[in-house]
Amino acid sequence: MDVTTTEEFRSEVIAWVAERYPDALRSAEVDADEAYLGGTTATFPSHAARRWMDEMSERGWVAPTWPAHLGGAGLDPARARVLAEELARAGCRPPLVSVHGLGMIGPALLEFGTPEQQARFVPDIAAGRVRWCQGFSEPGAGSDLAGLSTRAVRDGDEYVVTGQKVWTSFADESDWIFAIVRTDPAAPKRDGLSFLLVDLRSPGIEVRPIALISGRSEFCEVFFDGVRVPVNQRLSDEGQGWAVTRFILGKERQLLGQNTGFGGGRLGARELIGLARRRRGCPAGTLPDAAVRSALAEADIEEECARALVRNAGGRSPGAGPLHPSVVKLTMSAMMQHQADLAVELSGLGGLGWDGDAYGDDELAVARDYLYSKAWTIGGGSSEIQRNLIARQVLELPHLGPEEP
Ligand SMILES: Cc1cc2nc3c(=O)[nH]c(=O)nc-3n(C[C@H](O)[C@H](O)[C@H](O)COP(=O)(O)OP(=O)(O)OC[C@H]3O[C@@H](n4cnc5c(N)ncnc54)[C@H](O)[C@@H]3O)c2cc1C
Repeated sequence: MDVTTTEEFRSEVIAWVAERYPDALRSAEVDADEAYLGGTTATFPSHAARRWMDEMSERGWVAPTWPAHLGGAGLDPARARVLAEELARAGCRPPLVSVHGLGMIGPALLEFGTPEQQARFVPDIAAGRVRWCQGFSEPGAGSDLAGLSTRAVRDGDEYVVTGQKVWTSFADESDWIFAIVRTDPAAPKRDGLSFLLVDLRSPGIEVRPIALISGRSEFCEVFFDGVRVPVNQRLSDEGQGWAVTRFILGKERQLLGQNTGFGGGRLGARELIGLARRRRGCPAGTLPDAAVRSALAEADIEEECARALVRNAGGRSPGAGPLHPSVVKLTMSAMMQHQADLAVELSGLGGLGWDGDAYGDDELAVARDYLYSKAWTIGGGSSEIQRNLIARQVLELPHLGPEEP
């Protein structure tokens, strides 16, 4: 049993980080955007990044609240919060950026998995050995996710899966996909769904990247043509896939609040002040333009309020019970979009180009960030859907439209 107090634990973390965090990661030697993403196709962006991952894995601090026998450190929430605070205070990068693994399917395995499934899949996630992607959306099912039509037909100890997923982020770089599929077409639509864990190398799977106008290609279509999936790769009971999916959607929406893995390259309120100073040639003192000062102050206040909401004592929102993930998602995605808008405004003509030699790297980043920011109010469930959920589940207003996930 751990008998140290939380404050003793804090001192331990501070000392450990000071000793073990590689100097190279503090310096400009390593590109700020480079991250270790895990999985069989990933490489470490630097020797220092590998060392940091090794150090953190050894302590179980890549997934600090997960049980030690599954690759975590078994920390209670208070200690995990202290660890996160001190890593952030010291400016440490996450050793592994794994939104779908650490953030979604790992917690779902701990909640719904059998001991065998946990032993098989969880340690590989904590160690970054396997990368996962999320197979929820389909061409005919986004907001109305429960209307999905990918079919899984039981055949002995296997399911035979046929259908298509779309907007599957990073499927082309992933090893496994977690997918919600229809096992009983005759049941009410939410009751006929099951949740499968599928090796992307299975025969019958085709992954096609979707080219975006920005030149990026983070989305894929994933086609299943008679793919055989062992029944022991079903998470929770047959027909219980909706509960697992809702659990994961809640995690996804909360992740946006913690600002991990979404967007990237975003300028927060403090960076926006720096941008304004550079663009206006005013390195110190009061910025001359009152409208700019006012916009920056608003951005700062919005960011502080959003962060206070997310940090809110014990994760509870004032007077409304536990902090609902849709509140987090709605608030943070709107804030990030406002900041991306302001960055473009502050950049003047420099914020208008998303490609080409006429613009500097910083300017291109501002414009691309702005273009990408439109995705923040769609991914993980659109803002309209979050508002519907808040109306029903937090405010308990009458239900007028179709059901949302
Ligand atoms: C950056 C990003 C990453 C993504 N990654 C993944 C991924 O990895 N895996 C995955 O499975 N999916 C992923 N998606 C897809 C995402 O989950 C869907 O785009 C989202 O759920 C919306 O579904 P849709 O695109 O089909 O839009 P639709 O459901 O067709 O909605 C279109 C519009 O209608 C509105 N609308 C729909 N129903 C209602 C209603 N009842 N009330 C009010 N308004 C409504 C919506 O708000 C939206 O504005 C990603 C999307 C983005 C942007």
